[in-house]
Amino acid sequence: MSVANLKSLNELTSLCKRRGFLFQSSEIYGGVGGCWDYGPLGVELKKNVQNSWWKSMTYREDVVGIDTSILMNPQVWKASGHIDGFSDPMVDCKNCKSRYREDQIDLSKPCQKCGQSGQFTEPKDFNLMFSTQMGAVADSSNKIYLRPETAQGIFVNFLNVQTTMRKKLPFGIAQIGKAFRNEITPGNFIFRLREFEQMEMQFFCKPGSQMDHYAVWKEARLAWHLENGMRKEKLRFQPHGPDELAHYADAAEDIEYEFPHGWGEMEGIHSRTDFDLTRHQELSGKKLEYLDQADGNKKYIPYVVETSVGSDRCSLALMCDAYRLENEGDKEKERTVMKFDPKIAPVKVAILPLVKKEVLDTPARKLFADVQKNYMAEYDVAGSIGKRYRRQDEIGTPFCITFDFESLEDQAVTIRNRDTMEQERVSLDQVEKYLKDKLHF
Ligand code: ATP
Repeated sequence: MSVANLKSLNELTSLCKRRGFLFQSSEIYGGVGGCWDYGPLGVELKKNVQNSWWKSMTYREDVVGIDTSILMNPQVWKASGHIDGFSDPMVDCKNCKSRYREDQIDLSKPCQKCGQSGQFTEPKDFNLMFSTQMGAVADSSNKIYLRPETAQGIFVNFLNVQTTMRKKLPFGIAQIGKAFRNEITPGNFIFRLREFEQMEMQFFCKPGSQMDHYAVWKEARLAWHLENGMRKEKLRFQPHGPDELAHYADAAEDIEYEFPHGWGEMEGIHSRTDFDLTRHQELSGKKLEYLDQADGNKKYIPYVVETSVGSDRCSLALMCDAYRLENEGDKEKERTVMKFDPKIAPVKVAILPLVKKEVLDTPARKLFADVQKNYMAEYDVAGSIGKRYRRQDEIGTPFCITFDFESLEDQAVTIRNRDTMEQERVSLDQVEKYLKDKLHF
């Protein structure tokens, strides 16, 4: 049997559209750059990714969750450095005015859009934050920003959480939420978006201990990606060199995935020192120190190790990783199958009555109702059974249950495994146990 991996993002983009994973935002108006809408299967997939993250990050003693607002006092962004420094140096083609990130093009080559050679403006800084106005009066004093990262909502709540939850260092605060960046070159499907979601965790620790926590979190985060079924050989750590480190970081590393368009950052693990809390203390005038009772009541600003992964980018990597084209070119045997880990698969079980007849429909629907109590399931009667299996393969459903005429006699159904395509006859009263054994997460 021949098995091919995903060759290009276009292949995946069309599957996602065809099968209801993702649609271009405002498609009927021609779309809007860097924004995508999750369809019924896509949202289920993304929620599975987020639930897996939330569970692994917050169902533990030393990390708690939070959900902070997207709009924050603009001083937050002054303190964090985003107002003054969150920019990319940009150059414009003098001929067609196309704008590029300076670090992403070769200035000695012609413009990719119009083909004119060597005609670019000097690099200019371009702030990536979206701004809008708050309240009824539209003047610059009401200017407010859509957050470009979720982390600052955590920093400004550090003491609220620490004192109300009676946490001792080291401990972390985790959050999942939307972030917005006016990216100049959005693209590669949902790799680089202007509106996206981040799953971030800030781990507060005693100064001097940060490198130990950094090492532990690096391994923990890699392990999480592997537990979601990602192939090991498609993942790698990529440390930031000294000249790539953000000004506040004393160490940083990315977890990269090998996308069809090349290796790309999926998650960042950063040792952010005490930069953010110190800046917020300076600008707000509020003390953000921790009182360390275990160390002679010393007061200090904690250091922070951060893990930051995009839900969208991670979902994209999981889809790229799961995609297989088997027996390409063989009319009978060719199939596209998304080999999602069952935990990540949007639909866990499909119930398929062999034919569209009431005598099968009634008991099959009863089974569907039972299965749905525990798992996201689909009921499908349209088309041949072979076609229905192929559709479920393409959306990555781990199990298909076929209800046939014999089922009426022997009170048993056929369960087909997505990966092996093997079929087992399972008695109806054992279906629940069968699924529980196979779908444990
Ligand atoms: P890049 O170098 O790709 O612009 P970054 O280094 O600015 O990313 P971080 O600020 O470290 O990214 O953000 C943490 C994570 O948030 C990234 O690893 C990625 O998964 C996600 N992310 C960042 N920017 C985007 C975006 N424009 N679209 C989708 N996800 C994003």
